[in-house]
Amino acid sequence: MAYNDENIFAKILRGDAPAFKVYEDDYSLAFMDVMPQVEGHTLVIPKNPTENLHDADPVILGHTMGTVQKVAAAVKQAFTAPGIMIAQLNGAPAGQTVFHLHFHILPRANGIDIAMHARDMADFTLLETHAQRIREALG
Ligand code: 5GP
Repeated sequence: MAYNDENIFAKILRGDAPAFKVYEDDYSLAFMDVMPQVEGHTLVIPKNPTENLHDADPVILGHTMGTVQKVAAAVKQAFTAPGIMIAQLNGAPAGQTVFHLHFHILPRANGIDIAMHARDMADFTLLETHAQRIREALG
């Protein structure tokens, strides 16, 4: 299927939609998930128009994973998370709802379950506070 640049992450990349950004480089962007499954739920996307893992250029994917590693360390520090879960869904049957490749970074701790996927919108003031904590952890 051809990449559709009307998806929300393409709009964020173009500056046509807002996002609580935490990190950006030439190849990738990281920002808060607006319907977080847990506090600190962060997304990392390649800037290259890519629908999912199967379509990804391996070099772009490598850069994106470097960002996932960097931002995951900052999220771990910012939220004092004993565990970090990375999730990535390919295709609607797998649960993908936004058709631009993205990696979910989810802080995990014993006894704290993750909420339903893409359901409840977060308070934007709180999201900005969380984004700032991650930016500070990134230095
Ligand atoms: P997927 O279901 O495709 O793996 O994940 C898409 C993610 O994007 C979901 O976790 C959902 O909460 C998030 N999301 C959907 N719309 C927006 C948006 O407008 N902005 C941000 N920052 N995240 C979004």
